[in-house]
Amino acid sequence: MVHVKKTPPRKSAPGKTALRKIALTLDVVDLIHRPGEMRERTIEVAAPAGWGNAVIGVREGEPVHIDVRLESLHEGILVSAEVDTVARGECVRCLIDLEEVVEVEIREVFAYSLDDAFDYDVHETQVDLEPVVRDAVVLSLPFQPVCQAECTGLCPQCGVRLLDNPGHEHEVPVDPRWAALGGLAGVKEEDVGAAESGAEKEKR
Ligand SMILES: [Zn+2]
Ligand SMILES: [Zn+2]
Repeated sequence: MVHVKKTPPRKSAPGKTALRKIALTLDVVDLIHRPGEMRERTIEVAAPAGWGNAVIGVREGEPVHIDVRLESLHEGILVSAEVDTVARGECVRCLIDLEEVVEVEIREVFAYSLDDAFDYDVHETQVDLEPVVRDAVVLSLPFQPVCQAECTGLCPQCGVRLLDNPGHEHEVPVDPRWAALGGLAGVKEEDVGAAESGAEKEKR
């Protein structure tokens, strides 16, 4: 039997990418070659793809709030901005979902002509903030996000989240083949614990 998939006719509506491109691309025609002129504005955009590292990132479509100040200089347009959004990922120790507030500031000159001093330029009458904002956001993200500094991860034996199960331990090793190893590890941990609490007592 042959299944025929019906694909809806493509409408010629502007693609999402095009809309976002416009949102993070600001027109500065009224500031060009008018040193001293300044303008502020607030923009709300949906985050595009690619704002993250392997473990945490601003998801595509996440609202991004940007307060922008555009200043006209002799050599170009100085863009200062405060970016607020939220990154989502999971704790590298216990794998629980987590979110992290992202607040970054950018300050970048978009030059009229590119030379060694500047990385970005005014394109015709526009500045494209996307690469600058993306770099700042990605650089601000942790490579090892944790749900909290004290997170002790998962029980290596049964996988429960140790923060949810204080005092969690196994009386009998889950698999008898690991009994010898488990016993050893248990003894070692107790020794370490005793040594540590002993050291703490000495300090006091
Ligand atoms: Zn955790
Ligand atoms: Zn366990």
